[in-house]
Amino acid sequence: MKIAILGAGAMGSLFGGLLAEADQHVTLLDINDAHLHAIAERGLRLETDWGDRHVSNLQALRPGDAADVPDLLIVFTKSMHTRAALASVRHLIDPATHILTLQNGLGNVEAVASMVQRERIFVGVTTWPADLVGPGHVRSHGTGEIRLMSADGERPAILARVVDVLSAAGLNCQADANVWGAVWEKVAFNAALNPLCTVLNRPVDALGAVEDGPALALAIVDEVLAVARASGITVDAGKVNDNVRHAIVAHRGHKPSMLQDVLAGRPTEIESINGAVVATARRHGVPVPHTETLMQLVRLVQVQAQAAHQQER
Ligand code: NAD
Repeated sequence: MKIAILGAGAMGSLFGGLLAEADQHVTLLDINDAHLHAIAERGLRLETDWGDRHVSNLQALRPGDAADVPDLLIVFTKSMHTRAALASVRHLIDPATHILTLQNGLGNVEAVASMVQRERIFVGVTTWPADLVGPGHVRSHGTGEIRLMSADGERPAILARVVDVLSAAGLNCQADANVWGAVWEKVAFNAALNPLCTVLNRPVDALGAVEDGPALALAIVDEVLAVARASGITVDAGKVNDNVRHAIVAHRGHKPSMLQDVLAGRPTEIESINGAVVATARRHGVPVPHTETLMQLVRLVQVQAQAAHQQER
């Protein structure tokens, strides 16, 4: 399959590297020139539990320099960059191209739907973890899975092919009729843990210092899942609560990407996570006071961190 990955940071590089190793035809598309140059010179350094190696049978290009029309375009920018990134690959999308988003947050399908019809969009979630260690070097430890479905809920033949291609690359992919439940469950997890760690400037396990930490995280999960139910989505509260409790105990020293973005002076995905939940809650008249307060606090923290970084430059 001809696969282009739009946004080849941590996740895009991990997926691109594994798909290339499984002999798919992969092009990474990004605007990070240092990363692109490193890959062009030495290949992509891929560090996983299966080894530390360089993958060279892939291309890494700026979007405007790519010409090959892909069968599948996987969007892996941060959510606030999706529309600009898609606009830069308009020339690569033809009537046969399908687009997959596995990004966190809400609103990703709507962004992709501004370019192609819903029947050509796949949406899903992934639990694979990844970090960009430096230019041309991605690391991922442990395992994960992918759950996806067509955005219009149909099951075209290409859905099974996409699932097979991702699974053959070791990415453990399944079609899931309740994909929107999976999306909202992940949003609930992220809306609770990411902003709390960002506001505290502490890793996930710090939330376990006093019982108020898990209690606050679980109160946010409750709010978000109430919004999901009001939107007609079936969600499993027990599963999300267990995941949140487990993360607070097990994710020792882990700084969520929202905190990493603030520390680096970059914008965060707060608007597509807590922001989108608050907007949906308003439409359904569901109260989400904790989720909204955290959104406001992260907006403040993020603006101050960006100002401090600009002064340093
Ligand atoms: P990242 O910041 O490492 O990578 C994003 C990449 O997009 C960067 O390399 C950036 O240069 C590129 N980009 C930005 N604007 C672009 C444009 N206009 N054109 C092309 N490329 C552009 O982010 P990530 O950690 O890989 O996360 C990507 C998505 O996956 C996010 O929605 C995130 O929440 C989600 N996610 C991340 C993880 C993880 O462990 N990292 C796990 C699951 C889901």
